[in-house]
This record gives sequence, structure tokens and C-alpha cells, in this order.
Amino acid sequence: MARRSTKVPRAAISRLIIYLRILEQLEHSGYDRTSSEQLAEEARVTAFQVRRDLAYFGSYGTRGVGYAVPTLGREIRQILGLNRRQRLAIVGMGRLGQALSDYAGYGQAFEICGFFDRDPAKQKLRFHGRAVWPVQQLAGRVRTERIDIGLITVPASAAQEIADLLVGAGVRGILNFAPEVLETPGGVNVENVDFVAGLTRLSFFMQPLPVGGEMRG
Ligand code: NAD
Repeated sequence: MARRSTKVPRAAISRLIIYLRILEQLEHSGYDRTSSEQLAEEARVTAFQVRRDLAYFGSYGTRGVGYAVPTLGREIRQILGLNRRQRLAIVGMGRLGQALSDYAGYGQAFEICGFFDRDPAKQKLRFHGRAVWPVQQLAGRVRTERIDIGLITVPASAAQEIADLLVGAGVRGILNFAPEVLETPGGVNVENVDFVAGLTRLSFFMQPLPVGGEMRG
């Protein structure tokens, strides 16, 4: 039985997502069993790391026999909370919001159930047969549509106000694409997605090492 430990490092969760993808590929290719060595090789980590990541949640697999691919996949899905469908809303139906609404890779676990924008022109559009609701209706619609996660794709200047509205309506998960540090109460999970930050990290690490290994001033 999967249990949730508060001491699980974030990096372990990221690796579990990778193990799950590998297990899905293995299942698709007809594999019935796998081992921590095989998972490790595919995930480019050590077998010890795989076993340690799984050990945060309980005891999986049998020594010398390994793991049953479908069973371990099901257990990791349960650990990640993917055994129930999460209902999403996108707030800000501009370029990014529309691109996210078109994405075909959400899988079984995530379903977009609401679009919001403040612009009356956007409210005339439909995406996948759904209307774009005025942002003034956000609180009520989030409750009636039982939205679990809000995706924020408004300009940075409006992001906090939208986060407050989502949280006020009971949303406990926010995927924030706006370059703004959000303030939210305890119990609300925020994940920030920022590809320019990724580019900036690349820029930092691609700099030649200074002579003597010291940082440039
Ligand atoms: P955009 O101008 O095309 O779209 C923004 C939309 O938000 C518009 O439809 C606008 O009407 C709506 N909006 C503005 N204020 C609102 C409010 N208070 N309530 C509801 N809707 C409101 O912008 P874009 O290019 O789609 O970018 C959207 C956001 O995503 C920006 O914050 C941008 O910086 C960010 N962004 C992030 C990444 C990333 O990697 N995380 C990539 C691209 C853009």
C-alpha cells in the first residue's frame, strides 16, 4: 500500500514520474517483469537510487525476481495521485492558454474543464466545444465544475489576483506560467513553469569556468 511521507525529496517525485513513463513504455513493448537495474539504466540513475525512491512509499518487488511491470506502474500511479482524474481550468486564453488547451498529452489523469479570460473578444471563442467564461464567474464556476488545479496564463501583473481568486474558490493546486512569485496560504501547492528561467540556467552553466574556479564579479 502506498503511503505518503512528508520527507520525500522533490527530486524523488520527479524520478518517479520518469520511472512511470519507462514502465508504460515497457508495458507497451510487452514486458511483464523488470528490475531496478533495468529501470536505472533507462532512467540514467543507479539501481540503488531506484530502490531508495520506491522505499519512501513502502516495499515493492521481490528480491531476485524484480517487479511486475503493470503492478509497479499501478502503484506509482497511486503514489502520484494519478488514480483519480484531476479537473483543470486555464485562466488567460491568450497565446499560451490556447496552446495549452490544444495540447494532446494530458493523459487519463488530467481533464481541462474550464477556460477563463477577462477579454470579451476571448469570451466569444470556443475551445474543444467549451466556452471561455468571464473571469468574474471564476469563483462560482470553479466550485460547480469542481476544479482541482488552476493553470495561470495571464500577464504577470494579474497573476496574484488570479491566484487569490482560485484559492478563495477552494483550489489547492496552481500551475503558474506567469513570471511572478505567488503568495499563497499553507496547504496550497504552487508549481512554477518558466522556460526563460531554463534558458537562463543554461546560459549560466554554459559560461566557461573562470581561471581558478572563482565566479566572475
Ligand atoms: P497573451 O497576452 O497572449 O495572453 C494573456 C491573456 O490573459 C489574454 O487573453 C488576456 O485577455 C488575459 N488576461 C489578462 N488579465 C486577465 C485577468 N485579470 N483575468 C483573466 N484573464 C486575463 O500572453 P501569453 O503570451 O499567452 O502569455 C501569458 C503568460 O504566460 C504571461 O505571464 C507570460 O509571461 C507567460 N509565459 C510563460 C511561459 C513559460 O515558459 N512559463 C512561456 C510563455 C509565456
